[in-house]
Amino acid sequence: MTQRCFYLDAYTRSFDARVVERTRHDQQPALILDKTYFYPTSGGQPADRGQINGVHVKDVFIRDGDGSVVHVLDGEIWTEEINGEIDWERRFDHMQQHTGQHILSQAFIQVASARTVGFHLGENSVTIDLNRGDLKPEEIEATESLANQIIWEDRRIRIHMVPVHEAEEMSLRKLPAVDGDTVRLIDIEKFDLTACGGTHVSRTGAVGLVKVVKLEPRRDQLRVEFCCGRRALIDYRRKNRIITHLAADFTTGYSELEQSVARLREEVKQAHRQSKLQRIELMQLLGSHLLHNATEKNGYRIITQAFEDKDPDDLKVLANRLVENPGAVALLGLSGEKAQLLFARAEKAPGAMNELLKSALQVLGSAAGGGSPQYAQGGGPAADIERVEQALARAERLLLAQIH
Ligand SMILES: [Zn+2]
Repeated sequence: MTQRCFYLDAYTRSFDARVVERTRHDQQPALILDKTYFYPTSGGQPADRGQINGVHVKDVFIRDGDGSVVHVLDGEIWTEEINGEIDWERRFDHMQQHTGQHILSQAFIQVASARTVGFHLGENSVTIDLNRGDLKPEEIEATESLANQIIWEDRRIRIHMVPVHEAEEMSLRKLPAVDGDTVRLIDIEKFDLTACGGTHVSRTGAVGLVKVVKLEPRRDQLRVEFCCGRRALIDYRRKNRIITHLAADFTTGYSELEQSVARLREEVKQAHRQSKLQRIELMQLLGSHLLHNATEKNGYRIITQAFEDKDPDDLKVLANRLVENPGAVALLGLSGEKAQLLFARAEKAPGAMNELLKSALQVLGSAAGGGSPQYAQGGGPAADIERVEQALARAERLLLAQIH
């Protein structure tokens, strides 16, 4: 089994070791060393990256069965003696997030009696799941404050390797997943003691800051997303940039942003309302004009009109307006990427709109549509205004032939 040096020393970034086995993983060359500082995926913490003899380390994991640490590489290495270099930025980020998690989990216990039942450390987010779903905002804030106080007190963090039976006697936050006879305990000075196999900073101060960024209730649990240290800085920077830009756009201070956005939303809502009313008015005017110029036969009025630029909703408003007049039949069409036809008639006007639509749609090469004798619509394929006019003309011819 590989000697796991990262258990006792998380700060070594460069080390020499000996190759004890060469293997392959997913067609990639892989090495097993006599000892390693590369952290393998485990306990909710992702694996380290880095280089071995200048070759990129793609993945590190623990092999089932014998517990060897497998280093998956981008290329072959043939020497017996190797030098390993840990990607320190990534590792230190994991150390900050993971230690911050220990502190935050203990703080949730002390402030809100909420226990951590799940932990996930990803590339972009870190979350814990709490066994209480009903935490109040004040409890979250008090927890966050306590956690940051512990960070700023710069407390020592020690690692103890103790026999399993001794660990069982101690009041641990989390019981160890037993692997062998010893248990690794992470001891945050006079604050938290827990069994953990991950990598941590040596003093709480190195976590820098912990900030809760999102809460997601899940049944009777609460998922808490947070970020620590450098991630918190990046998060702050990003949000600060967004807010600064928004404040400049609104020509206001950031503390007035919420009011400015609320005002804007109200204005947009009113503008929408007004525009809707104006469109209805416009359609009524257009309707009157079209009625005036309609084809008349035996006292019926047939309005045949194709449009190029019109909202399909306007077409409906217009059709409804037209058929308010007894004896009116509206054969309307809209050209464009998805051409549309809308046929409607007054109750006592002649013609079966669904039948006329069927014939007209053939001109557009579509069969997508239907409706009743009084109201039918359809369309789908792209068609220019001339093609739509042809379709409408066919429907009009058929209709006129039915009126005697
Ligand atoms: Zn840990």
